[in-house]
Amino acid sequence: MTLARTLASFGVRCLLVERQPSTTRHPKMDITNGRSMELFRRLGLVDKLRAVAVPEENNFDVAWITTLTDRELHRFRYPSVVEKRAEIRARNDGTQPREPAMRVSQVMIEPVLRDAILDDPLVDARWGVAFEDFVPDATGVTCILRVVETGATETVRCDYLAGCDGGSSIVRDKLGIGLGGKANVAHRYMVHFRSDARDILQAFGIAWHYQSAMGTLIAQDDKETWTLQMRMPTEGNTDPNAVLDAWVGRGDFARKILVANPWFTNLLLADQYSQGRVFLAGDSAHQYIPTGGYGMNTGIGDAVDLGWKLAAAVKGYAGQGLLESYGRERRPVGNRNRLASERHTDVRLKIAELYKNERDPEALARGIAALGNAENESWGIEFGYRYDGVEPNSVVYEPTTAPGARLPSVFLRDGSALYDRLGRWFTLLRFGDADPSPLIEAAPVPVEMVIVDDPSIAPIYEAKLVLVRPDTHVAWRGDRCDDGAAVWRKVLG
Ligand SMILES: Cc1cc2nc3c(=O)[nH]c(=O)nc-3n(C[C@H](O)[C@H](O)[C@H](O)COP(=O)(O)OP(=O)(O)OC[C@H]3O[C@@H](n4cnc5c(N)ncnc54)[C@H](O)[C@@H]3O)c2cc1C
Repeated sequence: MTLARTLASFGVRCLLVERQPSTTRHPKMDITNGRSMELFRRLGLVDKLRAVAVPEENNFDVAWITTLTDRELHRFRYPSVVEKRAEIRARNDGTQPREPAMRVSQVMIEPVLRDAILDDPLVDARWGVAFEDFVPDATGVTCILRVVETGATETVRCDYLAGCDGGSSIVRDKLGIGLGGKANVAHRYMVHFRSDARDILQAFGIAWHYQSAMGTLIAQDDKETWTLQMRMPTEGNTDPNAVLDAWVGRGDFARKILVANPWFTNLLLADQYSQGRVFLAGDSAHQYIPTGGYGMNTGIGDAVDLGWKLAAAVKGYAGQGLLESYGRERRPVGNRNRLASERHTDVRLKIAELYKNERDPEALARGIAALGNAENESWGIEFGYRYDGVEPNSVVYEPTTAPGARLPSVFLRDGSALYDRLGRWFTLLRFGDADPSPLIEAAPVPVEMVIVDDPSIAPIYEAKLVLVRPDTHVAWRGDRCDDGAAVWRKVLG
């Protein structure tokens, strides 16, 4: 859905098919990180998404407990959206995101994306239609679709195909692309339920996650919707009510179970992200343990990278290398995030060991505090990923305009955000007196110029001219440009 929205934003038509009759009932993801929110902002979706998310005044705290009937051991405190916005405004040094993260479940986010594409005349979006097969050739891809309810089939011809068809992707399978890494890493059990017993389920106050050695209770709306993610009960009793009671420490509260099922975690990465005119994006290309919340967020990055490149190809702006760069840019990010999610899981395992061995709650709390919560603090993973092969710090985000890096975000003197001034396609930022004309005159693609007349901001951007791609990554920078055509040839592959 994000890819469809991205293509439409560039004026490119597409067809999306989803075999399910509706969007997901499985809560799955519960954090949309700040980088995804920046990208959603460019797609005009941020206000609609925030409207279905947890209230902006509520914190993002992660609290470790014994049980909800006993005590809270240690709380990692994270600001609300309102507080984070104030922090972003106050620290205008390029280290901050344009958008704070958002607490929301996948059950809530998907209808917003669906409505956005259903409203778009450029997207032909069909639910209840399965993608069955395809034959790629030199000029396009022929696809076979089947209406699930009637069994009717249809053949469609397209220029390109993107397999955004999840972990069991048939697009990936039919291409013969393998998965590397670890499958079925751990057996998990999920109970998604509704209950208004907030006094019990948030006994120690609002927190996004309450965690114990047995699992994590996710507050999906700080009101009545919750998800318990557990280790698979060893004794095999998967009655959701019993599982829930055991975790909470009492059973005397009303609840309605919405979904409950076992599932396996994976740490997998596709060997390739594309073959000819066919591409993989999202979980078809990578699957992670949810520690860190990188699954969907990495997929959003894939969709935006692939989206503008496909649009450039369809519009005739792209050279041969541009679509090939999709996998070259995104696969290392996919791998890095896979390794990060594994590291974060290792920390959780160490904390589980502490629970087993440490009887003194004070000492346990100190041990948890010392191990930390990098899974929700790895700003370098979320914002620092770059497409130039340089491995940035995974915890600290260090702003840079090195080509391939995400453009640092600042507010300008007039109070507007630089990110909100960027054009749909490319943007040339000019700081000081550099001559932009070689780049502007040679541009084979739409480019807008933004003149930043603010000496306090200029040093953050490290050069007098910074050329920004549609996905807000830096394409090129320099204090002068002698050969604009050469820059564009490289930037557009
Ligand atoms: C417990 C849990 C917690 C998570 N927490 C987070 C989090 O906090 N943050 C985060 O970013 N990520 C999180 N994730 C990961 C996130 O849910 C996934 O990464 C994300 O859903 C992947 O999106 P996708 O569109 O690539 O694939 P999917 O969501 O799997 O969507 C693929 C779609 O393709 C459809 N499809 C498949 N085959 C066909 C076919 N042949 N024809 C038609 N349609 C087809 C499927 O029905 C499905 O709707 C979590 C996951 C889990 C399980």
